Amino acid sequence: MKNDCSSGAAWMWGQIMPIADARLPVTDWGLTHSDITYDVVHVWEGRFFRLDDYLNRFEESMRKCRLNVDQSRDDMRRILHRIVSRSGLQHAYVSFVASRGQPANVGSRDPRDCVNHFYAWCVPFVWVFTEEVVKRGASIYIPDHVHRISENSVDPTAKNYHWGDFTQGLIDAKEAGYDNTVLIDAQGYVTEGPGFNVFIICDGQVRTPRKGVLHGITRKVAMEICATHGLEVVEKDITVEELFSADEVFATTTGGGVIPVTRLNDRTFSNNAAGEQTLALQNTYWEWHQNSAMSEAIIY
Ligand code: PLP
Repeated sequence: MKNDCSSGAAWMWGQIMPIADARLPVTDWGLTHSDITYDVVHVWEGRFFRLDDYLNRFEESMRKCRLNVDQSRDDMRRILHRIVSRSGLQHAYVSFVASRGQPANVGSRDPRDCVNHFYAWCVPFVWVFTEEVVKRGASIYIPDHVHRISENSVDPTAKNYHWGDFTQGLIDAKEAGYDNTVLIDAQGYVTEGPGFNVFIICDGQVRTPRKGVLHGITRKVAMEICATHGLEVVEKDITVEELFSADEVFATTTGGGVIPVTRLNDRTFSNNAAGEQTLALQNTYWEWHQNSAMSEAIIY
């Protein structure tokens, strides 16, 4: 049915449209150079969770990428509400994007000639790990020949589409029968995975990589949860050996919250089952979705 947005909706060029109708010109630098920044917030039971945190990070990413769009923060918030409302989705993955756009003279190589633009889209909630994996725990493959691109080349704190390294790692992981991948950097320190941050629990202390990673909103929420569980959190450089020697390992992502990791390469954790402390953090994560101070309702 024309204009049916029940599979998802997009706001582009000032209009709301079904997700299938949203498209970029092939000459848009967002497409030709991955010259784009974006963010993803989720809707759970008809409410945005921690939307201000996501908008803050997006504005910061735009500043780092030197992208300017016409929409104010209030405009963006209104657009996000409108597309989800239009789709009717109660559980949604909501992406908002600032692209470099394209220059009036299509041959120009000067980024300043490009007209930056904002668009947003929503689809049914996306699980970065399947719901089954969220319960039983994920297996992760750390390849030795693909490393995370240097943070001096692509700033991982500005959420981006430079996924060449992750995609190679993912193909290796899938071919070897693992659920997902985590990459190390050129110095051998653990970074992150495609769409998630990594935590370890060692002797009751929670640790997560301090650099070379996106400052995930779920990472931030998980740290807040740890504090309420009386767990100390330390941001530090983590070697693969330290990762392998952890008592528990978990991932954090907007696409599913706190995810237990039960296997890393050949090493299994907590008898190949989800760790107890991780499951307690996971429970609190979903409990916090009932807290109206952390979410805002969508008017459908
Ligand atoms: N790291 C990367 C590279 C990501 O793309 C994401 C999310 O997509 C994350 C970490 C997790 O961030 P968040 O918790 O904000 O979803």
